Amino acid sequence: MPITRLEVGLSCSKCLKEQIHTLVYDNDVLIRSECQNCGKEVFFYEGSLLAVYAKEVVCRILTKPIRMSREFRRDLGNAIATLPSRIVSKPGRIMEEVRQVVNEEEEKKKIL
Ligand SMILES: [Zn+2]
Repeated sequence: MPITRLEVGLSCSKCLKEQIHTLVYDNDVLIRSECQNCGKEVFFYEGSLLAVYAKEVVCRILTKPIRMSREFRRDLGNAIATLPSRIVSKPGRIMEEVRQVVNEEEEKKKIL
């Protein structure tokens, strides 16, 4: 599997400003970033990124009024489509899971 490196300017949480970072890809999947100024490394795992993303999406849906949920659902395709494709390998499945959560919440509100 080919390892490739890419240098980009990103905000560093340790330096607290934009620095040149090296992004390391393993077979086109982002696995690590390293700040060239302070050496801070961030490791990326598909599972943990998806878990963080899914939790954030669900929290956003549950804390907004129902109107916002509808708007979000309408724009869900775009939201998923704009995620980095290297992170999300199964966008259809994620979209379906988020839709289920939204539908369940709307059903609960109808019952109450
Ligand atoms: Zn840094």
